[in-house]
Amino acid sequence: YAGEEQTEDYLFKIVLIGDSAVGKSNLLARYARNEFYPNSKSTIGVEFQTQTMQIDGKEIKAQIWDTAGQERFRAVTSAYYRGAVGALVVYDISRRQTFDNISRWLDELHTHSDMNVVTVIVGNKTDLLDAREVSTEEGAALAEAQNIYFVETSALDSTNVQLAFQTVVKEIYNILS
Ligand code: GDP
Ligand code: MG
Repeated sequence: YAGEEQTEDYLFKIVLIGDSAVGKSNLLARYARNEFYPNSKSTIGVEFQTQTMQIDGKEIKAQIWDTAGQERFRAVTSAYYRGAVGALVVYDISRRQTFDNISRWLDELHTHSDMNVVTVIVGNKTDLLDAREVSTEEGAALAEAQNIYFVETSALDSTNVQLAFQTVVKEIYNILS
């Protein structure tokens, strides 16, 4: 096969976690299908969606897992986390309680997956300007203290949604290559 290029495929499991109604399912819907559900219920949650990206001419498949609403009962199982190499830990910038719970989600993530899981803290719903309860600086400070990435997004108006997912995929790729 002289002259034929070596092709390598990568498959990364990435999990979405965070309190109920912070916008996890809509972030995935926006990223994978460019859709948004103004009044979504947990029923829109799919098990996972696979998105393909090219990095360095290599094909990367990101298998992004969404909950089916079980986080409402603090019942995200270890099977959900198993094999994850990336995580988006999401809060809602208009509900401080969801931000306060980030550390619990990080603890749960580290209990169930590898310590080296690439993590991005995501402050979602930046379109809700007048309802903001958590400043950008607070979000950034929390992420910096944990030495992890931070992005503010809006699934509604699409701000930084691509960036959030691409950040985690690129960093996983950088570590592995
Ligand atoms: P999940 O429980 O974390 O999966 O949250 P959902 O994706 O189901 O979203 C919960 C609610 O928040 C729904 O009514 C969404 O329409 C709404 N929502 C999600 N993302 C955004 C956003 O970026 N901005 C606004 N204004 N609402 C959002
Ligand atoms: Mg959901």
